[in-house]
Parts: sequence; structure tokens; C-alpha cells
Amino acid sequence: MATRDAIDDRLRQWIARHRRVFALTGAGCSTASGIPDYRDDRGEWKRRAPVMIQAFRTQPAVYRRYWARACAGWPRLTAAAPNAAHRAFAAWEAAGSLSQLVTQNVDRLHQRAGSRAVIDLHGRLDVVVCLSCGDVTARAALQEAMAAANPLWRAEAATAPDGDADIDDAVVEAFAAPRCERCGGLIKPDVVFFGENVPRDRYAHACESLANADALLVAGSSLMVYSGFRFVRLAHEAGLPIAIVNRGRTRGDDLAELKIEDDVGSRLTEAVAALA
Ligand SMILES: [Zn+2]
Repeated sequence: MATRDAIDDRLRQWIARHRRVFALTGAGCSTASGIPDYRDDRGEWKRRAPVMIQAFRTQPAVYRRYWARACAGWPRLTAAAPNAAHRAFAAWEAAGSLSQLVTQNVDRLHQRAGSRAVIDLHGRLDVVVCLSCGDVTARAALQEAMAAANPLWRAEAATAPDGDADIDDAVVEAFAAPRCERCGGLIKPDVVFFGENVPRDRYAHACESLANADALLVAGSSLMVYSGFRFVRLAHEAGLPIAIVNRGRTRGDDLAELKIEDDVGSRLTEAVAALA
């Protein structure tokens, strides 16, 4: 018990020491909301690797499988609500010493918890964009269109225990993949796929915020994706103190002055409560 108290105190002290913290969050912040993390404690894929943008654009079977799984997983995503980690970040921002939150998550749960200064580094899942004409639509409306176009399929997929779980290939093949209603082009959620870069303006905005920060906190990310890890490298090069709260090892452990191996929600809630 003494060890646990000592660790809690280190995080509280670290947070209390800094006035303009830049925080980077990842999947570990959303698992308690029921949104699965795709990597295990060692940063390895738990299931099959995610879709690469090139395959999504060029292989109809990959495109169809992506949308079939996304259609099946949507109810679970919309049922997710912010958890203690999201609430702690919102409270921290309100307390004044969290200056910028950059999240690798695409679920918008930070915003729903009340965080305002948020950059969705990898985009947002609730918006869909046409790769041909650029038309932007709501993912919720697309869900209704997909359900209407696949009435029997929907009944089958609903029996899957896990929303984004592996669906039988035969079931995927029966799925009518959606197309842009305006031009018939391929459509994609407004998220950064593997093989794509973070949009330049968004990255520049995050870098500017980091330049104005006095410390970096990473929460719930193994930092296996370079677009997140590069902020840790930039902070290290700028001489900023770095703290990491994550279950399992991360790619930035060697650069951090403080590493807490635990659940983000409980640890951050305790540390932020002390600011009030
Ligand atoms: Zn279009």
C-alpha cells in the first residue's frame, strides 16, 4: 500500500509543478468506456492489423470488409460514454494548468466530457468524407443508409458478441458497401488511416501548442504510432519534462522522468482533485 500511495503522490506533485501542460491521450483512456484497445500491454496487435489506406482505396474486398465491420461495431461506439479519465482531463483544463489536449482517439469522448482545447489528431469517426468529391456527411445518417441497404445482413451481424469483432467472410461478402450519395465515390470516416499523414494544419496547430507548453503528459498510449510518438521526441528535444501514465510499456519510457504503470482514470482523478 505504501508503494501505491508514493506513486500517486508523484503524479500529483508532477501535475502541480506545471502551469501549461500539453497532454497526449490514446486508446487506454477509452477502454473503460467499452471501446476496445487494439494493442496489448507490449504494444502488439491483439487482433488483425488495421486497414491500410492504400488497400482501402484499391481493393473492393478490403473496402467492403471495413464498412461491414464498422456497421456492426457502430451501436457499441454510440453507446460509449465518457469515463473517469475523460472527466479528469476536463476538470484539469477547468483548473487552468492543462493548456492543450491532443488525442489519438477518434471517439470524441473528451469533448463529450467537457474538454474544450482538444485536437483530434487522427480525426473523428462520427463524420464521413467522400474521397472523390469531398462531400461531408454524418456517420449516423450513413448508418441508417447502410442498415436500409442491408436489412438481412444487419440481423446476422447483430449476433456478434463484439461490435468490431471478426465477422465471417461469407457474411462480409453479402454486405453492400456504401458509396457517396452525391457522386458514387468511395467514402471513408474522417479519420487518419494507417499509411496516411495527419493533415498539415492540424499537426502545425499541435506543434504550436507544444511550443507554448512547459511539460508533456502522455496518458493511455503505447506510443507505437509515430504521429503520437513524435510529440514525445519534440518535447524531449525541447527539454520539457515528460510524464507517462499507461498500463504496459511505451515507446517513450526512456524519455520520461515519470512513468506510472496504471489505469489513467483513477490515477488522474486523484491527482487532479488535489488541484482544486
Ligand atoms: Zn462524392
